[in-house]
Amino acid sequence: MTKQQLLDQIEADILDKDVCPDLAKSANSLVMGDGNPDADIVFIGEAPGKNEDEQGKPFVGAAGKFLNEMLASIGMQRQDIYITNIVKYRPPNNRDPLPDEKEAFWPYLLRQLKVIEPKVVITLGRHSMEYFLPGAKISEVHGEPKRRGDLVILPLFHPAAALYNGGMRATLMEDFMKIPKIIELVESKGKEPTNHE
Ligand code: URA
Repeated sequence: MTKQQLLDQIEADILDKDVCPDLAKSANSLVMGDGNPDADIVFIGEAPGKNEDEQGKPFVGAAGKFLNEMLASIGMQRQDIYITNIVKYRPPNNRDPLPDEKEAFWPYLLRQLKVIEPKVVITLGRHSMEYFLPGAKISEVHGEPKRRGDLVILPLFHPAAALYNGGMRATLMEDFMKIPKIIELVESKGKEPTNHE
């Protein structure tokens, strides 16, 4: 099976298991993810908003536009990354996702990561960060890569939060500039000889 077919299977399983039935009823779309399943980087946001729910794709509104601009600033495009959310249905009126909603979708997010096998997972905002780095405070750890098992996690501020906050916006843009170096570092570590060699 191709990576895309495996990702499609995860989507089918969410529908089959009727994950978060109340959210599913109020939403138009199950927003699974977008981009390149062979990407080195997976971005993980919070939950779809109005535009995402209408178009069935993550980060297509104002926050997505800002994200695209930041990607361009490091010479990347949406086709170079994969992007998804921890919660895959739009919460009514864009309220924060509830703990049990995040919990319900977490195993499916892990399955997505197992298929894609990214070098770096970039969490956007605290909702996705708290699952990878429990107890961490985003104001303290943003922009600092952390290794967790096979994954390197880079926590960043959420572009929607940074959009209209000058200080946070500048910090997010600075943190973003660290991404190419982090990828390079992870790649060079991967090439180091191991004890088995
Ligand atoms: N904010 C998110 O966290 N995810 C989206 O898909 C859009 C906005």
